[in-house]
Amino acid sequence: LPKTPEEALKFLKDNNIKWVDLQFTDLPGRLHHITIPAYEFTEDSFKTGFGKLDGSSIKGFTMIYESDMVLMPVPQTMTLIPWNQGVARVITQVFWGGGKGRFERDPRHIAEEAEKKQSEEGYVSYFGPELEFFIFDKIDLDVATPQSGTGYKIYAREAPWSKNGGFLIRYKEGYYPAPPVDQLMDIRLEAINTLVDYFGFTIEATHHEVATAGQGEIDFRYSTLVDTADKVQTLKYVVKNVAAKHGMIATFMPKPMFGDNGTGMHTHFSLWTKDGKNLMYDPNDEYAELSQIGRYIVGGILEHGRALSAIVSPTTNSYRRLIPGYEAPVYLVWSKSNRSAAIRIPSYYRGMEKAKRLEYRPPDPSCNPYLAFAAILMAALDGIKKKIDPGDPVDENVYHMSEERKKQLKIREMPRSLDEALDELESDNEFLKPVFSSSILNTYIDLKRDEAKTMQQYPHPMELYYYLDA
Ligand code: GLN
Ligand code: MG
Ligand code: MG
Ligand code: MG
Repeated sequence: LPKTPEEALKFLKDNNIKWVDLQFTDLPGRLHHITIPAYEFTEDSFKTGFGKLDGSSIKGFTMIYESDMVLMPVPQTMTLIPWNQGVARVITQVFWGGGKGRFERDPRHIAEEAEKKQSEEGYVSYFGPELEFFIFDKIDLDVATPQSGTGYKIYAREAPWSKNGGFLIRYKEGYYPAPPVDQLMDIRLEAINTLVDYFGFTIEATHHEVATAGQGEIDFRYSTLVDTADKVQTLKYVVKNVAAKHGMIATFMPKPMFGDNGTGMHTHFSLWTKDGKNLMYDPNDEYAELSQIGRYIVGGILEHGRALSAIVSPTTNSYRRLIPGYEAPVYLVWSKSNRSAAIRIPSYYRGMEKAKRLEYRPPDPSCNPYLAFAAILMAALDGIKKKIDPGDPVDENVYHMSEERKKQLKIREMPRSLDEALDELESDNEFLKPVFSSSILNTYIDLKRDEAKTMQQYPHPMELYYYLDA
């Protein structure tokens, strides 16, 4: 894959590219694109960009009176789009029009600033997200119009309720059954082959996930902050498109189904010196080979965990996932292998400096990865700066702990709703300030408040079930 502008131009030529898709991400995290002729690409276009964007129509971007914006291609993100003949895609940075410089609410810009900030402090961070998703055959969606209620029915070939008469996955037994019970192997394979062959990914694993039907996971090799966020956007794009080619629907929403496991984006995080020493590793720590700096990082992320929620679990649907009983985190505690804890220190290996990291479990893939990774890094750095003690690890199943014992251990919980998370973000955001300006935070909070408010105004189908005869 190309790295420099010259290589990108050669790539367009060598592959007979006729059209280029310029891609960028809005503030809530959705990928957008516009397709332009490849002949418009010259070496200059990597300096001047393409004036092709009306920012006022993009969520979280600009006002109608200042809406001319420029998309600046990042040459190292140029790839083919295998399902569109003769088309390449390139991720772009967003600039103000009229030579006014970088657009400060471009989420990729915030991620780039976070990388700069850590570099000034002498650090390199690595992010390794585990992307989960559902692949469904069909969804009958009675869309929420102002007049009618909402309702939906999901069909999945592996699901008992879809009555396909073949092999079925039993309730919450989706973890690792071999084909033909796992009926989505072909689609996951096509997705990872596409990611490897065309998008420069190194894949570590793919598997069926715990939920009764349709749930899968793809894990790719950890990388630096901005690169990993680009890869999250790319992976979602590829999985959705591969599924669509098969006439199916891939979704990364956190909790599509009542009573079954939700969809997370557990994020592995480690902090290193620039010359390649893992700052989180200490072979002399009996409990988890976790260094003192590692403990401060855990402390920072837990301390700001409630505010972080608004960024890493940022939809009203996220809070239907963060409940006891489905391996999703509910409590702001840390542990070696406790899956009810917000932070786990995986301990598959001993004596392996390279592998020492924390796994932060609250994120789900409805987040904007550029903002999420930047915010996680800021919380970690704050933990180091303020030497925040994470307290003792909790190795009991907190789901089953008595209220009394939770009080005694001073166990804090994650927010229970998007609104509650936004309240927290409003009161605890100093730690984000090095890279999140007030303008970004205010715009983000307004957008998300609006989502929460709209959702609150809709009578829920279950409310008719419960209260119709009230
Ligand atoms: N899908 C679960 C979640 O919501 C986790 C299951 C797992 O990966 N162990 O986080
Ligand atoms: Mg996993
Ligand atoms: Mg998983
Ligand atoms: Mg995990």
